[in-house]
Amino acid sequence: SLAPLTRNFCIIAHVDHGKTTLSDRLLQYTNTVSQRVLTEQHLDSMDLEKERGITIKMHPVVMNYPAKDGKTYKLHLTDTPGHVDFSYEVSRSLAACEGALLLIDAAQGVEAQTVANAHLAFQQGLKVIPVINKIDLPSANLELCMKQLEDILTIPAEEAILASGKSGIGIQDILEAVVTRVPPPRWTDYPTLRALVFDSKYDSYRGVISYGRVFSGTIKAGEMMVLMSTGQKSEVKEVGVFRPGMEKVSHLGPGDVGYIVSNIKSTDEIKIGDTITHSQKPAADMLPGYKEVRPMVYCGLYPLESDDYEKLKVALGKLRLNDSALVYSSESSVALGFGFRCGFLGLLHMEVVQERIRREYDVEIISTYPSVVYKVKKHGGTVLEVDNPINLPDPGSIEEISEPTIKAAIHIPNEFMGDILSLIMEKRGTCDHTDTLDGARVMLTCTLPLNEILVDFNDRLKSITRGYGSMDYELGEYRVSDLVKMDILVNQDPVDAFASIVHRSKAEGQGRALCEKLADIIPPQMFKIAVQAAIGGKIIARDNVREMRKDVTAKCYGGDISRKRKLLDKQKEGKKKMKQIGRVSIPPDAFIQVLKTN
Ligand code: GDP
Repeated sequence: SLAPLTRNFCIIAHVDHGKTTLSDRLLQYTNTVSQRVLTEQHLDSMDLEKERGITIKMHPVVMNYPAKDGKTYKLHLTDTPGHVDFSYEVSRSLAACEGALLLIDAAQGVEAQTVANAHLAFQQGLKVIPVINKIDLPSANLELCMKQLEDILTIPAEEAILASGKSGIGIQDILEAVVTRVPPPRWTDYPTLRALVFDSKYDSYRGVISYGRVFSGTIKAGEMMVLMSTGQKSEVKEVGVFRPGMEKVSHLGPGDVGYIVSNIKSTDEIKIGDTITHSQKPAADMLPGYKEVRPMVYCGLYPLESDDYEKLKVALGKLRLNDSALVYSSESSVALGFGFRCGFLGLLHMEVVQERIRREYDVEIISTYPSVVYKVKKHGGTVLEVDNPINLPDPGSIEEISEPTIKAAIHIPNEFMGDILSLIMEKRGTCDHTDTLDGARVMLTCTLPLNEILVDFNDRLKSITRGYGSMDYELGEYRVSDLVKMDILVNQDPVDAFASIVHRSKAEGQGRALCEKLADIIPPQMFKIAVQAAIGGKIIARDNVREMRKDVTAKCYGGDISRKRKLLDKQKEGKKKMKQIGRVSIPPDAFIQVLKTN
């Protein structure tokens, strides 16, 4: 076997620290790809991912590297998604490797995302090789980076490789470090085939393509394989590697990373983290670390134009083909019409999906307030999971409600400490400890309810710290909390799109703000109408919609007749699209405006 001459590694980095540029350099140095192809690839990268601070995900790729020891090594570079919403996926990509290059931008230093990903790499037992990148920059501060490496990541500074992906400095040092410091493939002695599935893609010609790392045994076309988490069998149609284009090979053996095409029809059936084995001679146990991923954040998505419902449905279906973490089912709302209840891994995942629907599928959508998944324990012991306030059972039947929390690492310049601590308190969080990063920055480790960071936490963090603060988080435990359902009533009728689950201490303030906003946005009505916030029938806040004069043309004092005509037509048109909430007609716009301005 070639396993001793194989190395598996990945690159972990904060967005913009130079992962793409450096990866391209490695491919170029090892003659895996020509300069011309590289430029094209680079231009193809998704703008959206860049804007949202997610690094672009690439195919795994195999390179041949003739090392200084005279031997030629097979180096598999696996990519990892860069954001914590995808921390399970990151952990599975890391599990496909024995080592990781940890990139640090020499001018920026260590960022929250770098720390989070470095911890995931340590947890997976990977050899971490620190690379201080962009040393060509005049603003590079090597001393600071070295100190941060030791203080924050507890990695000895002398292990750092100085590099510049842009100028091509340190490329050979990096490849040598991969060969000499990263251990050869582990677990090759296991008696049967075990391959880790760390990603999958849908290809319209070939169907589902799994990306896998073989630990032991070999896999080739014609064999029957089994996915161990479900027991599902399928025939292997083709195996191959990315060089960086797809290249068919006779088999994949221990240490290899590549693709597997089988007759599986849908990405739903391929679970990330699953183990592939042979159906004839199956493995006794799965590779460690498999988990079922479940959405953490839900919201309703509705087309702005009801004619776009079908388009939205198609868009969600297509997005899901390559994103099995996205779940959805149809729902309807009195206020917003027909749409979908969608579940996401986290807030960023939610934003990215919404943006893609707008940009790539050209559907204008509105989303309801995001909700986390609450655990509701009823008297008698039954526990329900509730992701939509509308489904919360009768308050009298509830014993307690628990909410998910997160463990956050927040990096900020020292001088903002007081303001950030107040923000954390306001968001019902606690600061568990603080670490000094260097003379000027601190890291706060906090516990916060996930619900509280959904709307504006990150924006507030950025604005308080003038853009210098960064945050990363992982999911924590569920904890019991004093949560209640707040209804918004328009003329005594509840409006489903505005129901929410809130902490009792915040209900009144939030209720008042929402009533005010709604009362302001709903156009004047023929009679007096109250907008109220209520908890279990008890009114906690109220506001009134303005009353209107009946004759809409009255305000066109002596105006020309065509102007009056237009106004009347407009009113008629408006009537058609009005949403009926009890006796009150409300233009659908009003709801959208309220949801938008939050
Ligand atoms: P990624 O988001 O981590 O994949 O980062 P990219 O490779 O796309 O690089 C982000 C930005 O930094 C781009 O504008 C690059 O041109 C620039 N960059 C990348 N590597 C270097 C480097 O070594 N030196 C300098 N000066 N700039 C770099």
